[in-house]
Amino acid sequence: MKKEFVVIGLGRFGGSIVRELVAQGAHVMAIDSTSERVDEYAQIATQAIVADTTDESVIKSLGLWNFGHVIVAIGENIQASILTTLILKELGVSQITVKAQNDYHEKVLRKIGADYIVHPERDMGIRIANNMMSSNVLDYLELSDEHSIMEIKASDRIAGYSLIDLDIRAKYGINIVGIKRGEAIMISPSPEDPILLGDVLLVIGADVDINRFVKKALQD
Ligand code: ATP
Repeated sequence: MKKEFVVIGLGRFGGSIVRELVAQGAHVMAIDSTSERVDEYAQIATQAIVADTTDESVIKSLGLWNFGHVIVAIGENIQASILTTLILKELGVSQITVKAQNDYHEKVLRKIGADYIVHPERDMGIRIANNMMSSNVLDYLELSDEHSIMEIKASDRIAGYSLIDLDIRAKYGINIVGIKRGEAIMISPSPEDPILLGDVLLVIGADVDINRFVKKALQD
């Protein structure tokens, strides 16, 4: 069965979510209060609908609680974002992801029970800054304010050594949970196998510890 999503708000953020979900084979209902925005997605989304989602009767008539996941991508109109989320929550939608505009917005969204809250601009800024600070850090997934999973490129300083040789867990308190080698990915890599130059290590741990590992083991 195809996965089904609703995306409310078809700005750049919501619009790119619609395109990507459709490209990955999902059914997507795209909603915006502006008809020009909806027209843009008429040929892309499974259904494209003009509606103001701050009106509870509208959400009810569209049967949105039947969808597994609703994404609220209304940004600037914080009041509309909060009200829409609240109505969806009250109707029992199982997963709601909301784009937050600022910390205050996020706080309110947490209180009313949004399941996932994203800050696309802030998160992308953090990711880009991290990539600029270290050419070894290829990508970055924030798990909490202090913990992440990072993709780190193995340098010639560790190539040829195994995880046991490097004693990474004991020295840095971080875990290498996978190694990407070309197209292949090894989950729970063998501690005895040597790391090769160009391998990408999937590292989980506290940001300070991962950064210490990158500086000391890969760059110094
Ligand atoms: P982005 O930063 O993603 O490009 P944007 O700046 O174009 O977004 P936003 O103000 O974040 O626009 O709003 C995203 C979309 O949400 C807009 O197309 C807007 O018409 C729509 N929107 C705003 N309020 C509602 C509402 N009550 N119901 C449905 N859609 C709404």
